[in-house]
Amino acid sequence: MNYSSTRGGDECLVSAGAIIAGIANNGGLFVPKQIPTLNQSAIEALSALNYQERAYAILKEFLTDYSEDDLNFCISQAYCSDKFDDESIAPLQSLDDHNHVLELWHGPTSAFKDMALQLLPQLMSKALKMTGETAQIVILVATSGDTGKAALEGFKNVDQIKIVVFYPNDGVSEIQRMQMVSQSGSNVTVVAVKGNFDDAQTGVKNIFNNDSFNQVLNGHGYQLSSANSINWGRLVPQIVYYFSAYADMVQNGAIAAGDKVNFVVPTGNFGNILAGYYAKQMGLPINRLICASNSNNVLTEFLQTGIYNRKREFYRTISPSMDILISSNLERLLYHITNGNSAQVASWMADLQAHGQYDVGNQVLKAIQEVFWAGFAHDEQTSRTIKEIYDTYHYTADPHTAVAWHVSNCYRKQTGDTTPHVILSTASPYKFNCSVLSALTDEKSLMDRNEFVMLEELAELSGIPVPTALAELKNAVIRFTQVCEKTEMEQTVKQLLVK
Ligand SMILES: *Cc1c(COP(=O)(O)O)cnc(C)c1O
Repeated sequence: MNYSSTRGGDECLVSAGAIIAGIANNGGLFVPKQIPTLNQSAIEALSALNYQERAYAILKEFLTDYSEDDLNFCISQAYCSDKFDDESIAPLQSLDDHNHVLELWHGPTSAFKDMALQLLPQLMSKALKMTGETAQIVILVATSGDTGKAALEGFKNVDQIKIVVFYPNDGVSEIQRMQMVSQSGSNVTVVAVKGNFDDAQTGVKNIFNNDSFNQVLNGHGYQLSSANSINWGRLVPQIVYYFSAYADMVQNGAIAAGDKVNFVVPTGNFGNILAGYYAKQMGLPINRLICASNSNNVLTEFLQTGIYNRKREFYRTISPSMDILISSNLERLLYHITNGNSAQVASWMADLQAHGQYDVGNQVLKAIQEVFWAGFAHDEQTSRTIKEIYDTYHYTADPHTAVAWHVSNCYRKQTGDTTPHVILSTASPYKFNCSVLSALTDEKSLMDRNEFVMLEELAELSGIPVPTALAELKNAVIRFTQVCEKTEMEQTVKQLLVK
């Protein structure tokens, strides 16, 4: 399987090369030349397998340059019982016949980013050996909160790789911040940026695109790479749990093999839901992919009108991991939906860069709408939904999951579709203890309440134990206190590496 850029050109790499590079030379994203398919009996056979075996069955279709042993080694390192607190890795909770919650937060950092970021470092480390690459890889991460910690956990102490994480100074929850600034590992650095997530992401992209700076780094034996979901190695592990959820539903009798399901995905950078699109293209019986946003509803508008317009107010919400106005992975969807029209994709991306918007036109919009549906939730709706889910099912959902739940209900009301829904639950409620507690208790001002008291209170209400890693933050030592201006990010990297 070969990979090329969404923006064309003749760069063509096997997966190991695409994973090391992160982003294509011309600024595009790597996409597989063709999308492999699984027939119905291969999909049915997944029901008898465990998560690790399901992962192998899917990943081997895309990562064809990895040997069977290497791939299985990577999978066993990533999805093991030291790191995940549930042996199903991504357990499915069926709350009733219509609503199935796919819990993607049983990994070491309690957010769904672990599903990909436990595997990516393993794949990258193998890729370095396979390609004989001798440079030190420097992973630059911009995070809206969850990616940073998950990447730090995944890459800490991995040979030949350093990692630098930039997070928006006022844009992450207190638990998220503590998780990052206390990170262990000899190859990690964490820096706060004065700005929002898009500022941090733009800063990182600018560093990637600055050729002369990259040459300076190369001269010192460093090569930059990415752990954001623009990296193919981040995206491909996410395809697995769509198949896994479906296999579980067949196995527990919620559906018959071949029946369709809808997936509802709380969306920011469009990585998670795009993995669902790949699953559908591979033959998984998906009726609709429902894209759920918060007040930063640029994707809702795009999926309804075909116009992507980032020139709008940025809101800080109680689902901060989705506070994003530039959804990078949409570029991959545009590539596939136009049957690989890379010139067209490049021109839309140039419009976005120059004018802050692009318009895909009616025909492309129609093709997208055959697969996707979109809606959004304001914070009050999200809070109310957390309470409703708790009152109805005694299930405690985090704010991102609640955004998806709200949009799931909107979809049913507006379309009358009765296909069963799998709602992707992307974070443990404990990661957003303050928002969840205030939704459940109607107390509005918990802002100055101690984090660890809130964890305990939430444990009492939810009946589920506090994840050990979060409880242990109480005694964690703070290692990183650096704050930089959004214009100083390159300088910060330079000081770290070149001195
Ligand atoms: C990253 C994240 C999302 C958004 O996922 P994308 O792949 O960026 O669309 C949603 N919820 C949580 C909790 C996240 O950490």
